[in-house]
Amino acid sequence: MTLFSTLDPTAPLSPDRDLFIDGAFVPAASSETFATVDPATGATLAQVARGGEPDVDRAVAAARRAFASGAWSRRSPAARKAVLLKLADLIDANVEELALLESLDGGKLAKDTLQWDIPGTAAILRWYAEAADKVYGEVAPVDPAHLAVVTREALGVVGAVVPWNYPLEMAMWKIAPALATGNSMVLKPAEQTPLSALAFARLTAEAGLPDGVFNVVTGYGAEAGQALGLHMDVDALAFTGSTRVAKLFMSYSAQSNLKQVWPECGGKSANLVFPDVADLDAVADAAAAGIFACSGQVCSANSRLLVHRDVHDALVERISDRARALRIGSPLDPATDMGPLVSAEQRESVLAFVERGAAQARLVVGGSVPADLPTEGAYVAPTILDGVATDSELFHEEVFGPVLAVTTFDTEEEAIALANSTRYGLAASVFTDSFARANRVSGALTAGTVTINGVDALDVSVPFGGFKQSGFGRDLSLHAMDKYTGLKTRWFSG
Ligand code: NAD
Repeated sequence: MTLFSTLDPTAPLSPDRDLFIDGAFVPAASSETFATVDPATGATLAQVARGGEPDVDRAVAAARRAFASGAWSRRSPAARKAVLLKLADLIDANVEELALLESLDGGKLAKDTLQWDIPGTAAILRWYAEAADKVYGEVAPVDPAHLAVVTREALGVVGAVVPWNYPLEMAMWKIAPALATGNSMVLKPAEQTPLSALAFARLTAEAGLPDGVFNVVTGYGAEAGQALGLHMDVDALAFTGSTRVAKLFMSYSAQSNLKQVWPECGGKSANLVFPDVADLDAVADAAAAGIFACSGQVCSANSRLLVHRDVHDALVERISDRARALRIGSPLDPATDMGPLVSAEQRESVLAFVERGAAQARLVVGGSVPADLPTEGAYVAPTILDGVATDSELFHEEVFGPVLAVTTFDTEEEAIALANSTRYGLAASVFTDSFARANRVSGALTAGTVTINGVDALDVSVPFGGFKQSGFGRDLSLHAMDKYTGLKTRWFSG
């Protein structure tokens, strides 16, 4: 059975993919390409243009020309809204193509890309399109002899560098507010998942976005990504990815033109489970979803379980049952619960974490490559390690795979201290049937999003981002529009 009604998911893709610059697909200046691989099979899907510094120069120049022309930046917000709404409709109309590309390129479950990722991407764009003509400026309360008008101005050229776990959706968290506010853009998708961004680029032309307003340079981080970060004519750089690379972007900015850098980075989010919670099955469902969805490759994945000693055994047993019951296999199969990781490199990295972790903790379930699946596939079984020490690597470092680290606590104070003891502060969940405790504990956690009795609550209307080394600035909500605009005051003296 196939989930696709208009496409044959087994048909070969067209082999070559070029960069998208100034409204046209063009090869890299070097003519070089790189292979993008299906992590479920190890097969090469397509050769993609390997963009480098000259290509980033071309794309930034096109974006700058488009910005200066005013064709987008000075168009009325209502007119920008109309184009972006058309673009959102085109995403919906092409949902099968975009979903299939993401499932092939990133190993993501087709039932998720079809139902959530791509429709969700269109919904985010629609939300910001609608916001474009509803954000007002200010008149400052100065001496009435004067008039001080404060407006939000587009910054100019925005670079966006994004990861592979939700390729188009993560990009859209940047694209939608940046374009809605009148900026031009250069997007550098992750080298593991470049295909959906290029298919989306074609739609931007179809929707009537003026040439040069949106450009895509595919390629490696240390080449195209670095060139964008160091570029002297990029005004802001929106980044989602690891903390390590976010720090590089901060230094690229310092070495070049002091461009604004907006980093959304990793996490080591904790589930805190208290003994007053009555429905342990509901907690187990949520905890399993929080770590095994998207094969654990989620920045806000609940990768630490902090559980009160009194409910530890019962809860770990329940989550382990759920882990064992997950069907692992092809992302295109509607019956699959968990697909591969994004690449063989990621599989090796995750297995190495597990091996080091298992030397210090008790491996409850998983920890290996599941049997009966193609050995070329990047599969890792859902894994739970119990008794994870609070000073261990597994407690502190982001694995970015289906690996849950369990640690026991005795008091509320201890639970809060443990949850806050990593360098990250992206998200957390609190499971309790006491409102007073939920209020107290959620208030004490250093995390951008705290979900009570659930995991990973998210909506376009709610800001998303972290504290500490999970980054700063916020994606989503109207607050994200602040990142792509600067305040400008015009004084009219009497
Ligand atoms: P990564 O940091 O390795 O790569 C992210 C992007 O940066 C890619 O496009 C990559 O090509 C580019 N890059 C890599 N090295 C570079 C360099 N030297 N110079 C310039 N650019 C470079 O991250 P990843 O492995 O693609 O994604 C996983 C990470 O993303 C995890 O840490 C995860 O937590 C994080 N993430 C965060 C959020 C969030 O919203 N906070 C969302 C999704 C993923």
